[in-house]
Amino acid sequence: MKIFEQKGTSRSMAACGYCRTVGHNIRECPQVAEDYAFWKDYKVPLQASNPCRWFNANQPKYWGEWYTKCINAMQKQLDYKESLKKPKKARPKRKPTCGFCGSEHHNRRNCDKMKTFLKEAGQANENWRRAAYALLVTKLGISVGAAIKVKKDRYYINKDKDIEKVALVTDVNWDKLNLSCANGRWGDYMQGLSIGIMIDGRRCSLSFSRDFQEAELQPVFSSVDGYGSWKYDSKIANAPKPLDESWVNEYKEAFDYLAKKRSHLKLQEEGIIRLVAKWK
Ligand SMILES: [Zn+2]
Ligand SMILES: [Zn+2]
Repeated sequence: MKIFEQKGTSRSMAACGYCRTVGHNIRECPQVAEDYAFWKDYKVPLQASNPCRWFNANQPKYWGEWYTKCINAMQKQLDYKESLKKPKKARPKRKPTCGFCGSEHHNRRNCDKMKTFLKEAGQANENWRRAAYALLVTKLGISVGAAIKVKKDRYYINKDKDIEKVALVTDVNWDKLNLSCANGRWGDYMQGLSIGIMIDGRRCSLSFSRDFQEAELQPVFSSVDGYGSWKYDSKIANAPKPLDESWVNEYKEAFDYLAKKRSHLKLQEEGIIRLVAKWK
């Protein structure tokens, strides 16, 4: 991260605004007092040998500027010394606020709004997973080991007939599938469906026609990952051992994480709150 890598470097390399020496700033500059000892008597401090090359015997046109800079720097040093003498004002303690809902009366640990969100999100996710299981496994016959009929569109391959093949489902991203698959909002708060298949010994990803996605996959899945020219057509044979139904009750950590790291407002902006309300 740029902001992290660059922290500190620009400050330590900066030259003193008065004498142009690297390693200190005006507040600590030893040259200021040396020059001031001359200026206060209206003498040009040529013997004080200021290392700044503009402030020299052969640069009289800068002497006015030199004088002003020296007086200002001296004032800065005096003000700084004065400020060190004064007792530091105790900063008013910032009221703790809840990172989830923004309330000033509690923190995340005892936030009722967060507890309610977690409870409802868990319920919504379970309901969503039940719907996803019924759709993918029961209705479409998609589970690892199942046989399905797939089709390549004739317009796509420039033939007068679609090609049909039998494909074996090799993998489904079950462990990643959750309520956010139904989130239509593109970004970090959504999850796509990804299905791997095997056709004639070659692995590829399964896709769905636009019509099929709209009619069958929505609103459970709003997006399918991976591009494949083979589209789902129909189920042929169920998997000998379909996905266990206990899958419906798993996957809670992601919502714990969201509730800990994100605010209710952010989750609202990203469409998560609306999804929870719809599926709970
Ligand atoms: Zn200096
Ligand atoms: Zn709160």
